[in-house]
Amino acid sequence: MTDQTPLQRLHRVQELDLSLDRLRDEEANFPEALRAARAEQDRLNNELEETEITLEGVEKRVKQAEFDLTSVRDQIARAKEEQEKNAFDARAQSQYGSRLQQLEERLEEMEEDLAPLRERQRELTEKASGLREQHRTGRPGLAELEGADEKRIKGLHAQGENSRTERAELVGGLDSRTVKEYDQIRKAKKGLGLAEVKAGRCSACNVMLPVNIQQKVALGNIPPVKCPSCGRFLIRLDM
Ligand SMILES: [Zn+2]
Repeated sequence: MTDQTPLQRLHRVQELDLSLDRLRDEEANFPEALRAARAEQDRLNNELEETEITLEGVEKRVKQAEFDLTSVRDQIARAKEEQEKNAFDARAQSQYGSRLQQLEERLEEMEEDLAPLRERQRELTEKASGLREQHRTGRPGLAELEGADEKRIKGLHAQGENSRTERAELVGGLDSRTVKEYDQIRKAKKGLGLAEVKAGRCSACNVMLPVNIQQKVALGNIPPVKCPSCGRFLIRLDM
């Protein structure tokens, strides 16, 4: 380490930066199994929520219909009582008779309307409990995958920690203005701040470098020579 030139140390800084970039990308790259398990649980949750909302609406309608049924049944009972009270009045009998018939018909219609509503309520209740069961069944598997992923991310952080420590040590021994400029170039170029010269070319942008630039690069001084085409710092690693 100690026999490295400042420029070689800057190159090592870049190696560490690139490996930290890779760790960051890797961290965001969740395993397919976890992604799929999360999506499935979300889907079940959403479907359950929708089913419960629909069920609530149907239950309200069933309740209202049952209430209306009870009230018609009460009306029928009252009409029958009245009919009995007036057992000897033929005109009242016929009036109550047709009133009763109307009410019975109405009751029948309401019962017919209520039957499919009850069936729908039963279906939705069954569907909701099925979805709840599926969600419950999937939970341990998802928890296991989440746990494994937490470990994966912790591992990546630990790896990154070593790189960050080494980077901090290296940067501490380098000219701060050069490091700052390197950081700016790397940020602007989204990757490399320091490019190797290979066969007289800048390996980042592939431009052929003038001989005087190549010669200056060969000296390996700080601040480093920049590529006249892409503006990156240049280094020779083959010497
Ligand atoms: Zn270049």
